Amino acid sequence: MTAPLHPEMTRPDAASALDEAPDLSIVVPCLNEAEGLDAFLARMVAAAEATALSFEIVLIDDGSTDTTWSVMMSACAADRRLRAMRLSRNFGHQRALSAGLAQALGKAVLQIDADLQDPPEALTPMLDLMRATQADVVYGRRLRRAGEGWFKRASAGLFYRVLRWLSDTDIPADTGDFRLLSAVTVARLNAMPEQHRYLRGMVAWLGGKQVAYDYHRAPRAAGQTGYPLRRMMGFAADAITGFSMAPLRLCLGLAGLSVGIALGLLVYVVVSAVTGTAVRGWASLVIIFLFFQSVQLLCLGLVGEYLGRLFMEQKRRPLYIIAEQSHPRETKKAP
Ligand code: UDP
Ligand code: MG
Repeated sequence: MTAPLHPEMTRPDAASALDEAPDLSIVVPCLNEAEGLDAFLARMVAAAEATALSFEIVLIDDGSTDTTWSVMMSACAADRRLRAMRLSRNFGHQRALSAGLAQALGKAVLQIDADLQDPPEALTPMLDLMRATQADVVYGRRLRRAGEGWFKRASAGLFYRVLRWLSDTDIPADTGDFRLLSAVTVARLNAMPEQHRYLRGMVAWLGGKQVAYDYHRAPRAAGQTGYPLRRMMGFAADAITGFSMAPLRLCLGLAGLSVGIALGLLVYVVVSAVTGTAVRGWASLVIIFLFFQSVQLLCLGLVGEYLGRLFMEQKRRPLYIIAEQSHPRETKKAP
């Protein structure tokens, strides 16, 4: 047993629950979830109790502007199996999840959203599947996206398929951040330092035995999505640039295409010069100019996108800042 990090941890009523690593950790990132958090916790605690395993629930307040933090603190005071940490600002879903994973002590770790879109009751069948298949990862695969508009469904469907096509890593389609991980997988994930985090890609990259668990994704129980369109696009850019060099290769493809066109035009110019036909009209010239100009800008933009990410990456900043914790613990180290 390591020395307690916080006086609260030596309290007799807390000792047994806090000092031993639980069988199961449940990591829940929350942005402005005050409205629905109690309902979520009630269902999640019931689902975790049904497994008969010892468990902890790690709540991460990702810079909420509503009363999420005080709801978390009251919940932690009422149930010692709950822990909470508050990030100093909004760091985004993927980093909030990373913060929770770094703190999780369980032998298995469930990642789940706080908005009840992912059913807490799936925990038992997911654990059964993990045991039965000896899997490192059991990932939730969405069968239906109830309550999401056609635009979100269509764009998500297209995105997952384009990403699979572009990426060298086999990232399963229609999966989100609802998954059960073994402690070893969590430790490996914690050891991945990248700034632009696309966790479902990172988990896929790790390899090992990964098994799908099909489920129906429910509509949000309360509150609003933390992923408006602009953020979704940023997320997609992280995914594609993080897991594929294909866009950079596209520049080469476009260069090849424009060289081909230019050669064709050269033949035309030479032939018309020899035959004495006057080259008429500036329209064709303008079109050619615009075409090459936009190809160049596109390539420059793509290179810039990767260069910018390289720049941010080399700063090696911490991924998040923890401002407050309900009862701090030692962060588990990677093996
Ligand atoms: N979330 C977060 N930080 C953010 C955005 C979202 O911690 O910047 C949390 C949010 O509270 C929820 C989960 O991440 O528990 C998934 O977010 P959301 O439901 O908004 O995404 P969607 O399901 O609409 O894709
Ligand atoms: Mg959601």
